[in-house]
Amino acid sequence: MASGIPELYGSLVFNDSVMRDKLPKDVYQALRKTIENHTHLELDVANSVAVAMKEWAVENGATHFTHWFQPMTGFTAEKHDSFISPVGGGQVVMDFSGKELVKGEPDASSFPSGGLRATFEARGYTAWDPTSPAFIKDRTLYIPTAFCSYSGEALDKKTPLLRSMETLDREAVKILHLLGQSDVEGVSATIGPEQEYFLVDKEIYKQRKDLIFTGRTLLGAMPPKGQEMEDHYFGALKPRVSAFMHDLDEALWKLGIPAKTKHNEVAPAQHELAPVFDTANVAVDHNQLTMEMMKKVADKHGLTCLLHEKPFEGINGSGKHNNWSLITNTGVNLLNPGRTPAANTQFLVFLMAVIKAVDEYADLMRISVASAGNDHRLGANEAPPAIVSIFLGDELTAVLDSIENDTFFGKQQKVQMETGATVLPHFFKDNTDRNRTSPFAFTGNKFEFRMPGSSLSVAGPNIVLNTAVAEALRQFYEELKDIPESRMEEAVHTLVKRAIAKHRRIIFNGNGYTDEWVQEAKKRGLYNLRSTPEALACFTSRKNLELFTRHHIFTEQEIISRYEILLENYCKTIHIEAKTMQDMVRSQFLPALRCYIDQITGSIRGIKAVSAALPSAASEKLLAVLCDSYERICDAEEHLEADTKNAEGIDDMQEAAFFCRSTLIPRMEALRATADDAERYLPENLLPYPSYEKLLFCV
Ligand code: ADP
Ligand code: MG
Repeated sequence: MASGIPELYGSLVFNDSVMRDKLPKDVYQALRKTIENHTHLELDVANSVAVAMKEWAVENGATHFTHWFQPMTGFTAEKHDSFISPVGGGQVVMDFSGKELVKGEPDASSFPSGGLRATFEARGYTAWDPTSPAFIKDRTLYIPTAFCSYSGEALDKKTPLLRSMETLDREAVKILHLLGQSDVEGVSATIGPEQEYFLVDKEIYKQRKDLIFTGRTLLGAMPPKGQEMEDHYFGALKPRVSAFMHDLDEALWKLGIPAKTKHNEVAPAQHELAPVFDTANVAVDHNQLTMEMMKKVADKHGLTCLLHEKPFEGINGSGKHNNWSLITNTGVNLLNPGRTPAANTQFLVFLMAVIKAVDEYADLMRISVASAGNDHRLGANEAPPAIVSIFLGDELTAVLDSIENDTFFGKQQKVQMETGATVLPHFFKDNTDRNRTSPFAFTGNKFEFRMPGSSLSVAGPNIVLNTAVAEALRQFYEELKDIPESRMEEAVHTLVKRAIAKHRRIIFNGNGYTDEWVQEAKKRGLYNLRSTPEALACFTSRKNLELFTRHHIFTEQEIISRYEILLENYCKTIHIEAKTMQDMVRSQFLPALRCYIDQITGSIRGIKAVSAALPSAASEKLLAVLCDSYERICDAEEHLEADTKNAEGIDDMQEAAFFCRSTLIPRMEALRATADDAERYLPENLLPYPSYEKLLFCV
């Protein structure tokens, strides 16, 4: 099998080599031009591509095609049409036109639009994105598309991402030309998203309403063992998990997704997959597909893949580290410091642009990862805090210090690793150790944004990052554009020096999990947007509206609509959780507790009936504890129920979101605390759903 991987890889993808093979030469060249230079595609070219695509798809077993898009639900959407076309005499041929390839018309009325589109204007369009290759899945040809309304507003995550990539490309090329890199024609953002997830047994999963309805457990006491032994991280893979991972890799490779690294994560039942990075647009599509394939392949193995940010209380949640860099069409990574970062003007300009961007738009970075699920992670001592800051490491910080203070930067010598054992190979240490607590860390030749949650589409964070960096580069360009070449180096030095002084506050190399940092960040004037409602409130500030409209990423209307969709999604999520919890407590947990109370009561009566002299104090004590719990749980449940109704009565979405945050969530937490406490007394056979122990240690 292993020898066949190169043949297997991308076998279900209409990739460059298939295109070269199947398309007439002039059509192939026209399409490449569109992909590389973002030029407009003519219909006759599209027609020719459609014919080749259909032939290839049919040869590979496809009967249908679909325009695959990414509406604001955060999931992907698809509607399948068959290739068949009746030709009379009861016969059909397989047909697919250029028009069908480039444009689709799904009824858009049932997708979230945040008021952008009234239901009577249901028309929406999908438009082919030739920069992300088509592929075959389940005998259907999938065509990646952007999704917009009748009047051209973006209703999806891909359109603004493509817009942000083009803006960044333009601004980066402008400044590179100014710095003398006239051979560079294009710059792309590259992304490598590391995906964390949990695997649980499917049969056990199916017995938990909370997992089914909300993706996370709303009740459940911790078993005697959690993650404290640190024995799961990088531990040997269990056979069932390993079999799942093998199948997943293969499924992803066939789809041309370069799955590279896999390992066990910190929490029991938690794992990670990282691909080799790709251009932003393709990497986002691939990550969406990866999440889908994880669920599908898990199902085949009798497992369920949980992508929620916090499926279990008391152990780590799941994130999605977004590794991000910039690459030129000539293959240069613009965030590679090289051997002498202090003398690398070009690197310093791009590094400084990222620092400036993250400092000025830290609120947007936080907003781009805001969700009800991720609120359980950020700031919870296991994931980066809700405060956005940048980790640069000692060497780069020293480089920036020397520029700011006009001192000489002496390069640190490479240090030989001392292992104390001569048989081990000799190698040099990295110049900086890793920092695990920073939300935005420089990791050698890229930045790693660690705030995104595991279920998030990474389109959002990359739209913000691309646009904010493009804006910083634009401002740098404006400052430098009239400087003669002979004075450029000095001008860049001055610019960087000023920018460091201004944006130094965002750089923090220490431990982000401490309270001292929270205090320090406050002193520095950094945002600490603890929850989704607090974060979203900043979305529509003047500064943010200006950024997006200036670069034509979003219109004001599009931003407001997205703000409303996010708020609504937050409220709905909490509402579903509150209802599910009430249901589980009322119809499952309390009856079980009642049953146990009855058993103990009967048992005490029985003891007394045999002989009044028999001791029953322990049973009576237990009964008192159980009765007390029962009362307290009923009480907490009633409060939650009443406030859930109150929430339903709030019309203003922002008010509703803050009510969820400040009232419903604490109510749920209080109910959970009493129920989890009582669970510890309940005999295993009476617990009406599988315990944490079964969930976490069943595979
Ligand atoms: P680490 O283990 O230090 O986080 P890795 O080298 O394992 O780093 O990479 C983690 C992720 O970062 C992988 O998905 C990798 O493809 C991605 N990555 C590496 N280089 C780049 C780059 N230049 N741009 C974007 N992502 C990158
Ligand atoms: Mg990493």
